[in-house]
Amino acid sequence: MLWSLCLLLAAGALGAPLSKARPKLLLISFDGFRWDYDRDVDTPNLDQMARDGVKAAYVTPPYITITSPAHFTLLTGRYVENHGVVHNMWFNTATGQKKPYYQTLHEGEWWDTGTLPIWITAQRQGLKAGSLHFPGTAVSYQGEVPFRQEQEPPLHNYQNETIWQQKTDKVMGWFRHDDLDFVSLYFGEPDSTGHLYGPDSPQRRQMVAQVDRAVGYIRQSARRHGLSDLLNIIITADHGMSTVHRRGTVEEIILAKIPGFSFQDVSFHLVDYGPAGMLLPKPGKLETVYAALKGAHPHLHVYRKEELPQRLRFSNHPRILPIVLFADPGYLINGYFPVQINRGEHGFDNQEMDMKPFFRAVGPAFRQNLEVGPFETVNIYPLMCHILGIQPEVNDGHLDATRDMLVSRGARASLSSGETVNYQHNAFVGLSAVAGFLLVVFVVLVLQKILLKKKRRESSRNVPEDKQTGF
Ligand SMILES: [Zn+2]
Repeated sequence: MLWSLCLLLAAGALGAPLSKARPKLLLISFDGFRWDYDRDVDTPNLDQMARDGVKAAYVTPPYITITSPAHFTLLTGRYVENHGVVHNMWFNTATGQKKPYYQTLHEGEWWDTGTLPIWITAQRQGLKAGSLHFPGTAVSYQGEVPFRQEQEPPLHNYQNETIWQQKTDKVMGWFRHDDLDFVSLYFGEPDSTGHLYGPDSPQRRQMVAQVDRAVGYIRQSARRHGLSDLLNIIITADHGMSTVHRRGTVEEIILAKIPGFSFQDVSFHLVDYGPAGMLLPKPGKLETVYAALKGAHPHLHVYRKEELPQRLRFSNHPRILPIVLFADPGYLINGYFPVQINRGEHGFDNQEMDMKPFFRAVGPAFRQNLEVGPFETVNIYPLMCHILGIQPEVNDGHLDATRDMLVSRGARASLSSGETVNYQHNAFVGLSAVAGFLLVVFVVLVLQKILLKKKRRESSRNVPEDKQTGF
């Protein structure tokens, strides 16, 4: 009985909750924020964040460089061919049906492909997660959802700075009052402005100044909510933006005008969606379609899906159609005639510098005033799992890509860095428990010994020697 009590006491102390010392993490995406957008705009808050934390030269998104696929890579650490969210649009090649971006955000079957986003993994390991407007938020994964889960309503105003502040305060409230450990937060700019006016426009520069003010507000709100010592903030984006050549100044890519190509040979197509496209030829027509398109335009790249350059990691998934098309920067892929009016576009090869997003990080887990080299965004997922102290799912990234940006030792780490605190706290609690347990055992043994001696003395006086039993 006494032994069981001792063991229970020791086990209880070892498993004591550590929520006060647990690090928190906020992942923010400013859609379409290209790596160099701070070069022609005064950005005092982003500059201050770089001094207080880590700035990467740029990061490389996965191909295809569009919103939903690239955001799901941030949440899973998997390339697009491995997580299966291959496009912003849900489609069914059998019925020919397509659903636009916002509708697809609510299409559970499109997202719940077996690859778990970090919210679910974190929650399965005892943490609490939330997500505000991040693509992929609206659906459930294997029947599970983040603890806090809000997708923006249709016709949401993505530009309104007051709404940005309200979103920020809501998320900080989740950390403060609901004790969430991880939240992902999405802003739809500067993507929309980059599309509409082009990445070199004054409107884009004004929007970057607004993003910079938002970054200042986010950090101020964290301080106001008393989160500065616990909260780590990663700010990045899904892709960059590139200027589209003005109509009439170049030879446009219009598939229907290419000699030998006919939409009659195609049973399903995804074109008129920026610089990327996919085709499903009718049975027996694959080689005809391929031969007609390959080399037909100097800025159009045409591949059978299995022959795409391996570095793009965009071949090995059944949702990827048999023929994949992509255009050089400045060019769009049009079906029958040019219908696209954007002055800026993304979706190009992820090697193009215009497609690279920015990356900033600040908080107790991160070193200060450190600029690091570029890395792929698949590596952000293992970094986040490491900061949160959770076991990652199978992924395509590696902590080695970002390990240098982390505080690993020193006074700052021992006071406030997440995992270091956890390890040290765990070690302290564990050692205390063992010491306490040994002390209790020692006292029990000593008491037993004293009692035994006393009993022996009494027994030797009262009973014959051969009736004594040993303990
Ligand atoms: Zn985007």
